[in-house]
Amino acid sequence: MYKNLIELFKENEGKGAVGAFNVHCLEMVPAMVHAAEELNVPVILQTSLGTAEYIGFETLIAAVKALAEKSTISVALHMDHCKSIEALKKAIDFGYSSVMYDGSSLPIEENIKNTKEVVAYAHERGVSVEGEVGSIGGAEEGVVVAKDAAMYTKPEDALYFATETGVDALAVSIGTTHGQYKSKAKINYELLVELKAKLGDTGLVLHGGTGVSDEDMKRCVREGMKKINVGTELNKSYIEVVSQTFTAEGVTPLTSLRTLLGPANDRIKEIVKEKASLFKL
Ligand SMILES: [Zn+2]
Repeated sequence: MYKNLIELFKENEGKGAVGAFNVHCLEMVPAMVHAAEELNVPVILQTSLGTAEYIGFETLIAAVKALAEKSTISVALHMDHCKSIEALKKAIDFGYSSVMYDGSSLPIEENIKNTKEVVAYAHERGVSVEGEVGSIGGAEEGVVVAKDAAMYTKPEDALYFATETGVDALAVSIGTTHGQYKSKAKINYELLVELKAKLGDTGLVLHGGTGVSDEDMKRCVREGMKKINVGTELNKSYIEVVSQTFTAEGVTPLTSLRTLLGPANDRIKEIVKEKASLFKL
């Protein structure tokens, strides 16, 4: 079934966090849905605006909906970190079930004003919205924040932002970094507990999941994270696997591309299963 975040959070209440996996190319889409089906958990497929433009909004949405509608699990399609209100309205009109407006680099009042506009447009159309307060450092597509510009989310700002905007989910900065894969993040649990206590129903979102150890991941879920994003690990692993298969001995221009891409798609499925298993309570 094709759903938004509000429905996924409701369905998953008391069961842990929902995994949100960044689609980097169309090949990854069936692998991700099939992984979630094997675990019988809901799943969020998310893209940057760049990936949506690369695949094509209509093609991507049609593919995700076709898989979702045939599936026994709930699937959401979410636009990750988008700073353009116009682009988000386009994504909503084309059929994304959820979007993230990222105004984290703006002064909070401006962030609130823009997020409210997205929430009004989205909610009228049955689409959920994620916002961001504080600033998650690091770099991935759509996000470049210098580490010294990264800022922990202040609980009072988070509560004010969530109350004013009516967002369904909120990305918080508690020590994770985008694009981190060589080392592991140091999570500020004291802050997480305070945020959870203040925010109640607004689903907290952990970004930069690749840089979080398995143990920390489980603890973040226990402490109340509702959505956990994994992007870098998928991109990185796809490159690693295709680098091997494309350069293997005996590969010629007549080799079936399917045999070269299959192992990378299989790796995506394994990663989604591994991560999603950690998100279950
Ligand atoms: Zn992010």
